[in-house]
Amino acid sequence: MENNLTKELLINNLIQDGYLKTPAIIDAFKNIDRADFIPKDNLNEAYANYPLPIGFSQTISQPLTVAFMLELLDVRPGERILEIGAGSGWQTALLSFLAGENGKVLALEIIPELKAMAEANTSKYGFIEKEIAAVFLADGSNGYPLEAPYDKIIAGAAGNEIPAAWKEQLKVNGRIVAPIKESIVVLDKIAPEEFKQREYFGFSFVPLVKK
Ligand code: SAH
Repeated sequence: MENNLTKELLINNLIQDGYLKTPAIIDAFKNIDRADFIPKDNLNEAYANYPLPIGFSQTISQPLTVAFMLELLDVRPGERILEIGAGSGWQTALLSFLAGENGKVLALEIIPELKAMAEANTSKYGFIEKEIAAVFLADGSNGYPLEAPYDKIIAGAAGNEIPAAWKEQLKVNGRIVAPIKESIVVLDKIAPEEFKQREYFGFSFVPLVKK
């Protein structure tokens, strides 16, 4: 298998293939170790460029997809970010690294055991303790009105459309990056009721669960 891959090789491949571009995001990939977010059984595949099981029929996302979506999300230090589908917490930690000490990442997870996993894993980097990240047990299809509005919203599970609640909870000039069916959609809020949309085809995601 790919068990002699290293973190450095994975990152270099993502750079060469054009998925990783921005220095801050490359830095985040170097600092947040995917191995810290993977169950023991699959540790030897931590740096393989494919999704891996994390239990409950869910997966830690493929590095290529996370890199691509983070490049599109364009997180700036100090931003307030809503993440739907925390899963392993890997992307929660990458977002926390990018948002920094003055930023805030609110991560939602619908499966209690994975909510606990995301929290424990994100905590390895002190992001929970520093109050940069918080993980909530919630159905993300309604967003998270309690902590809104957000500069950025990112989802790790695919629905058939972007929920109205996400658009409402987004600040003007904010951006949503979310999988819709087999695409990644980028939605920019350019005015209170005006959005601009781009779409990138050819990805695959676990489905967004509705309660
Ligand atoms: N980026 C994460 C992706 C995990 S997979 C990682 O790399 O670990 C997507 C996650 O979304 C799963 O954990 C799943 O349980 C969760 N999910 C699915 N539907 C959801 C919903 N409606 N609200 C919140 N979380 C949801």
